[in-house]
Amino acid sequence: MGTWRSELSEGIRQRGFRKWYERELISGHAHLVLTVLSALGLLGGFEVYDRQAPWFDQLLTLLAVLASALIGGWALRRYLYRLMNAEVVANQAVCPQCQTYARFDLVADQQPARDAVGVCCRQCGQRWLISR
Ligand SMILES: [Zn+2]
Repeated sequence: MGTWRSELSEGIRQRGFRKWYERELISGHAHLVLTVLSALGLLGGFEVYDRQAPWFDQLLTLLAVLASALIGGWALRRYLYRLMNAEVVANQAVCPQCQTYARFDLVADQQPARDAVGVCCRQCGQRWLISR
């Protein structure tokens, strides 16, 4: 796991922005699927919970419910993060000079020190920063 900046610049370097964006969305939706499965697990846990059952069975059910809740919460957060991050970056994927969308490379020489990625338009050579 790298930083936000290194993940984005590696993604653009290796696959280009469009592929990076696509992957973020796919990965985001995989987390959404996991969220839904966890919610089903949670409901199933409530369904089978029985106060008359032996305490050990009750404990197992409670642990399963707890695990589903934790996994579901984590997956939901990852889903929202991936989606929002993809949108924030995509909103900055338009060249400020010629308005070309998603046709840029990483700036080869100096990358900015702060939390941003320097890119360069393939169409007109304009440079700008993508930040979060
Ligand atoms: Zn341009």
